Amino acid sequence: MKQIENKLITGLIESLKTLETPIVIIPHMNPDGDAIGSSLGFGRVLRNSGKIVSVIAPDSFPSFYKWMTGSRDIILYNNDKKKADEKINEAGMIICMDFNEISRTGNMASVIENFKGKRILIDHHPEPQCFADITFSYPDSSSSSELAFHIINEMGYENFIDKESAECLYCGIMTDTGSFDYSIRDPQTFRSLSDLITYSIDPIEIHHNVFDTYSEDRMRLLGYCLSEGMEVFPEYNAAMISLPRDIQKRFNYVKGDNEGFVNYPLSIKGIRFSVLFSEIKDQVKVSLRSTGSFSVTEIARDYYNGGGHCNASGGEISNMSLEEVKAQFRKNLPEYIKNMEKEKEGK
Ligand code: 5GP
Ligand code: MN
Repeated sequence: MKQIENKLITGLIESLKTLETPIVIIPHMNPDGDAIGSSLGFGRVLRNSGKIVSVIAPDSFPSFYKWMTGSRDIILYNNDKKKADEKINEAGMIICMDFNEISRTGNMASVIENFKGKRILIDHHPEPQCFADITFSYPDSSSSSELAFHIINEMGYENFIDKESAECLYCGIMTDTGSFDYSIRDPQTFRSLSDLITYSIDPIEIHHNVFDTYSEDRMRLLGYCLSEGMEVFPEYNAAMISLPRDIQKRFNYVKGDNEGFVNYPLSIKGIRFSVLFSEIKDQVKVSLRSTGSFSVTEIARDYYNGGGHCNASGGEISNMSLEEVKAQFRKNLPEYIKNMEKEKEGK
């Protein structure tokens, strides 16, 4: 990861020094392990330094992140707007965590737009929107959690890290790299992990808490998705999984049950591009993954009102049925692949 600019670090230190009011940390909507881990980890370090800190998430997050210390105190904006608004009104600083566009916070977007105090952004998505007073944007960082860990160290706040905050930051790096599988070429990421382990955390337990806590229904849903719900297009090195509402009902689907499903087709020899379409409420939620130089960000942006990273993007579409979305994907696939080939040839 690139060295963090010194002026950003001194700017944040100065802002914290003069701040006499509480801090609110806001991750993105549908928060994942990195969004929750970085918010709780960074928040706890600031709290250990003497600040009053709340984490307010736009909406709920999967149960397999609820072992993290502080997760049960996270205020969900969708459920408890009154309490959230009170906290925001008291705050002199908000820290936006793990997103590059205000719209990624859904109903909280206006809160961030109208906030009168200091706005800090800590993120690793490309091309951040310019809305914060201090923007830590490091797209070559494995995760926002790793970035937060470097910021803490550069600030000289490492004495405020404890076991609980280290667990959260470790979890964020672990989940955003798919258990150290992707976005993890930088030796510094491995050094960060090894530094975090020195805070007496148990990496085996953390992995277990996140990945070995499937319900039986969730495991069977995965089985169904792979055996019945997956279409493979070997000629295009691509695969598509769909998760319709009736199947979710059959397997008693709860939020987070489909997390990680989109990665499975990439384990098929030759498959470099995978997509998951899930019917969620009145929308189709889209997850895209790729390997190598083929970027899925543009597809997410152009077709699914989304964005993300080169090899992991997402979005959603609200004016088409699941079947229509799938038909459009099949139709467009040759075009996507043509672009993949062009990119490979550097055209
Ligand atoms: P997932 O497929 O796990 O939901 O999302 C993968 C990545 O895509 C996320 O880390 C995030 O960067 C991005 N992403 C997911 N959904 C959206 C969306 O609705 N809008 C944008 N801009 N990015 C998204
Ligand atoms: Mn992230």
